Amino acid sequence: MSKSLTVAVAGATGAVGRELLATLEARNFPAAQIIPLASARSAGSTLPFKGGTLTVQELTPESFKGVDLALFSAGGDISKSFAPLAVKSGCVVVDNSSAWRMDDRCPLVVPEVNPHALKKHKGIISNPNCSTIQAVVALKPLQDRYGLKRVIYSTYQAVAGAGTPGVRDLEEGLKGNPPQKFPHPIAGNVLPHIDSFRDNGYTGEEMKMMEETRKILGLPDLPVTATTVRVPVFYGHSISVNAELLSPFDLDGLIGHMGKAPGIVLQNNWAGSEYPMPVHAAGKDEVFVGRIRRDESVENGINMWVVADSVRKGAATNAVQIAEYIIAHCMQ
Ligand code: NAP
Repeated sequence: MSKSLTVAVAGATGAVGRELLATLEARNFPAAQIIPLASARSAGSTLPFKGGTLTVQELTPESFKGVDLALFSAGGDISKSFAPLAVKSGCVVVDNSSAWRMDDRCPLVVPEVNPHALKKHKGIISNPNCSTIQAVVALKPLQDRYGLKRVIYSTYQAVAGAGTPGVRDLEEGLKGNPPQKFPHPIAGNVLPHIDSFRDNGYTGEEMKMMEETRKILGLPDLPVTATTVRVPVFYGHSISVNAELLSPFDLDGLIGHMGKAPGIVLQNNWAGSEYPMPVHAAGKDEVFVGRIRRDESVENGINMWVVADSVRKGAATNAVQIAEYIIAHCMQ
């Protein structure tokens, strides 16, 4: 690994950006210099890093001169405008927004699932949707051993998935104040509405989960459906995943196989009331899987409960894992 990498973090002051800095520090990422970028509002403010501080710079078209790697988490519009400029400057971009995910030129990668896709990158690599990441980590071992016939997702997503404004809405809502980010109060409520509605009645979040699952797993015709719901939890997305498999399975064998899969921690002792929960997954990098049981209503059906921290594995950790893989395998 080169020791002289210059790394930019675009959106460094946001929920994901702050976690990106913390993850780069925690994993001792081999960067000689880290440049935090954000809007003009934050320019000159400081962020903690390795016992000192980094001074935030305004993101401009010139920000990427001399930068080797840029981690973007400043929203789709910023990624659409600035990621191509960064690539033109010779930079490799790992983007957390949805801007480039379904672009055929951009690999959409979860390192435990499809790292091979990185070999074909052309400068921009997309980090998938947060819920999709944890779902495909859990589905991959089932795909490999039994094959997938159909998938149904029902999500219970934390407010941190909507960034700092989402967290603020729950904090303020608990004090009785009206929402600024969500269309309705989130405290004491659940909202079956994440991202905007499309003409087919699905939300953007639901469409992302369906389309991105197919792209990451390399199964363009896989039937997948989703209902995505915001719940009054600060950190940690939960997903009920129902899958029909192509081959019959022995339940104990399936559970044992999942327990050996990369990135998964099994919490499957239902008799002891042990199962994944957001309060345990928050602040962790793994995907927690439990409540694994046969779906007795269909042939070869399985139900499971999958929990992970959307800001960690759903964003920062996955992005830094991608960056580490690129440095190890794709950069000279
Ligand atoms: P956030 O907390 O609202 O942070 C937004 C960041 O973007 C801030 O650093 C903000 O800087 C910066 N920004 C906004 N407008 C800008 C501009 N005109 N120029 C430069 N920087 C600008 O949002 P977030 O949750 O971190 O999400 C960031 C991205 O990651 C989004 O695309 C989101 O969909 C994606 N993502 C989020 C999660 C999650 O769990 N939260 C998971 C996966 C992916 P200022 O502080 O200066 O405004």
